[in-house]
Amino acid sequence: SKKLVLEHICKNFDSLIAVNDVNLVVEPGEFLCLLGPSGCGKTTLLRIITGFEQASSGTLSYNGKVINKVIPQKRDFGIVFQSYALFPNMTVKQNMAFGLNMRKMPQKLIDERVNEILKLVGLTDWQNHYPAQLSGGQQQRVALGRAIAIKPKVLLLDEPLSALDAKIRVRLRTVIKRLQQDLGITMIYVTHDQEEALSIADRVAVMKDGQVRQIGSPWEIYKAPKTSFVAQFVGTSNFISATKKNGKIQFGQREFVVSGLTDAAGETLHLAIRPEKIEFVAPPISPEQYVTSNIVEVVAEVITFLGAVVRITFLLEGKEMDVDLPEKEFEKIGLQRGEKLTLYFPPDAFHVYTEL
Ligand code: ADP
Ligand code: MG
Repeated sequence: SKKLVLEHICKNFDSLIAVNDVNLVVEPGEFLCLLGPSGCGKTTLLRIITGFEQASSGTLSYNGKVINKVIPQKRDFGIVFQSYALFPNMTVKQNMAFGLNMRKMPQKLIDERVNEILKLVGLTDWQNHYPAQLSGGQQQRVALGRAIAIKPKVLLLDEPLSALDAKIRVRLRTVIKRLQQDLGITMIYVTHDQEEALSIADRVAVMKDGQVRQIGSPWEIYKAPKTSFVAQFVGTSNFISATKKNGKIQFGQREFVVSGLTDAAGETLHLAIRPEKIEFVAPPISPEQYVTSNIVEVVAEVITFLGAVVRITFLLEGKEMDVDLPEKEFEKIGLQRGEKLTLYFPPDAFHVYTEL
């Protein structure tokens, strides 16, 4: 089958290791996101896949054939960059037809294909305009259309939406996702935006320092981050560094019961808990509850309205933390800044790490 397979791919620029032993299997028709902070090697990895860059070592294969030495033009992979890289002297339609003209496709077929793509990317009414007459979002639609017009085997996108406004970014995300589903194209999409990756991908490969640190569905990555880096980078997490004592966690003056602790005592652990996992507890609360059952009383320092949820920032043992309450629940409570609230940290809501 038409898998793209990366085995032990490495790339160094002199002494700098940009990509460090990456192994990936991208399934046909899959939408894979490479997610990671700036400088972690995403673009370099994408350039190796396109053939614009040669791996220092490792094997790249497509459909069972090693393609390390195949020139970019022969790989039939489409590419979309952050900067649209359109031909300024060509209309929208001509830009989209460019790759097809290069492949000497008959004019009638080109017209048919371009009309189809114009519809798919929503630019039929703009086909005779020049790039300079279009908005950024429209220009990126042209770039997308031009890339998919040649029916690439794999479409590679390097931060295609990062130059656009938030609203347009979200709208184009949907356009890209729908294209991928309708056309069944394999897509590899690079982004440093975790929210974008989670919302668009079938699978996310989280990268750091040239390595893939975790790969899985957005759901898996969010629910079960394997390292503290992933917990920190994907979504929001509160972190507590604490020592283990008597099977519990000692955090300042407080003790927490945490599920799945190992036996080693005295060890320093790093616990992560998502803001939406912390629960509001309605009064009255007995004094015993505070000591024994992961219940704390805190003061709402900052209240941030985020739409569907309200984020309340509080201090626990001098550490700033967030709890997210559904907007409806928050309204019922009627909390003001500076007021006290009681929170419950469920033992099984913590992710436990030995390294930060
Ligand atoms: P990302 O796309 O994740 O931001 P890059 O792949 O662009 O990361 O870069 C990874 C590392 O490789 C960075 O430290 C970058 O400075 C370095 N790098 C990338 N391209 C080159 C190059 N042509 N020459 C030297 N160093 C490079
Ligand atoms: Mg990059």
